[in-house]
Amino acid sequence: MGEMEELTVVECTRCPDLAECRSRIVNGVGPADADLLFVGEGPGANEDDQGEPFVGRSGTVLDDALRTAGLARADVRITNCVRCRPPENRDPRAEELANCREYLEREIDAVDPTVIVTLGKVPSEHLLERDVAVTGEAGDTFDSPIAGEPRTVMVSVHPAATLYDRSQEATFEETIQRAADLTGSGGQSTLGSF
Ligand code: URA
Repeated sequence: MGEMEELTVVECTRCPDLAECRSRIVNGVGPADADLLFVGEGPGANEDDQGEPFVGRSGTVLDDALRTAGLARADVRITNCVRCRPPENRDPRAEELANCREYLEREIDAVDPTVIVTLGKVPSEHLLERDVAVTGEAGDTFDSPIAGEPRTVMVSVHPAATLYDRSQEATFEETIQRAADLTGSGGQSTLGSF
């Protein structure tokens, strides 16, 4: 299978509700061999419009934190737990997460990242397969098997959380810096430890 075929879902109707409401399937973006893989929850309105993960306000927050850590968006891979926008931005249902899991696992296997950063509660719980208190666990890494392979998962608050709660800004930036440090990419940390 070619790289693009492996990473790109072109046709899927596993989730009837999502397939009906979406404008398009939103696949992951970024290098197919990225050291850092960010996993969000699912596309919002902007992502559904533009066909790319994290291009709305949350994306700006992520891009800014990456820049602060000495990274560009083009250096990392960004994807979501589900590839179709849930109507009214509701959380993806358990069955929708399960339906889309094969695509995510295929992407994780192909990219084989050094660190997977889970952006928010839904992807953190989906990939760690347990309850996660994201604010308390942000920046912590966990060894977790995904599709039978040992993986390093770093929990993060969702970038949108920084828009509602300013105190989450430093937590988010420090998490991204830690992830950059772990992969040896980006710039030297200028943030204090937390
Ligand atoms: N929030 C997400 O979880 N994913 C996106 O792609 C955009 C916003």
